[in-house]
Amino acid sequence: MSEQRATNITWHEGSVSRAERQQLLNQKGVTVWMTGLSASGKSTIACILEQMLLHKKKHAYRLDGDNVRMGLNKNLGFSAEDRAENIRRIGEVAKLFTDAGVIAITSFISPYKKDRDLVRSSLKPGEFIEVYVHVSLAEAEKRDPKGLYKKARAGQLKNFTGIDDPYEAPEKPEILIETEKHKPEDAAKLILEYLEQHGYLRA
Ligand code: ADP
Repeated sequence: MSEQRATNITWHEGSVSRAERQQLLNQKGVTVWMTGLSASGKSTIACILEQMLLHKKKHAYRLDGDNVRMGLNKNLGFSAEDRAENIRRIGEVAKLFTDAGVIAITSFISPYKKDRDLVRSSLKPGEFIEVYVHVSLAEAEKRDPKGLYKKARAGQLKNFTGIDDPYEAPEKPEILIETEKHKPEDAAKLILEYLEQHGYLRA
């Protein structure tokens, strides 16, 4: 990879406007940012939400932790700097999808408030919907669908959020999902209703 950074670059305004893209899709581009502990249910809820939107003929696209780490971010680990860079890149991709008029649904632990707020501030007001997918640590450890908590408790996995790495909960998320009260389908419905009520599902 070249070490030289691009300097002489300017954003090229195209001749197709965002409003025209939104008209075409009959929706508004937005980033639905799910955050929460591992096993809180982010991916499960994101998948159901994507399906519900598809049934309504709305164009959504999921960016998921493991998938992105296998490709775009495969050179990153779990140190605080790498986690920050992981989230920064995802934020940039979500921003492009949002600009394209798509409903980008991201499901990443994204444990640090500063990193999430950076993504929020890079988008326009109303284009970033923070969804706090809440679960207690005890319940997350009970679910443990990938056996990661068990490994972390046994010391085989370092820097694991909730065990030996912090999770900074959102203070004012647009949507709070309490997964010990809401079933995954109900959680997805809550988000869908928010999108409907706030006008995202029309141009
Ligand atoms: P994450 O993407 O946050 O790591 P996953 O969606 O991969 O979480 O896993 C969450 C697990 O918890 C799944 O096995 C899911 O079936 C289960 N689960 C149990 N109750 C709920 C709920 N109310 N909401 C979401 N997931 C739930």
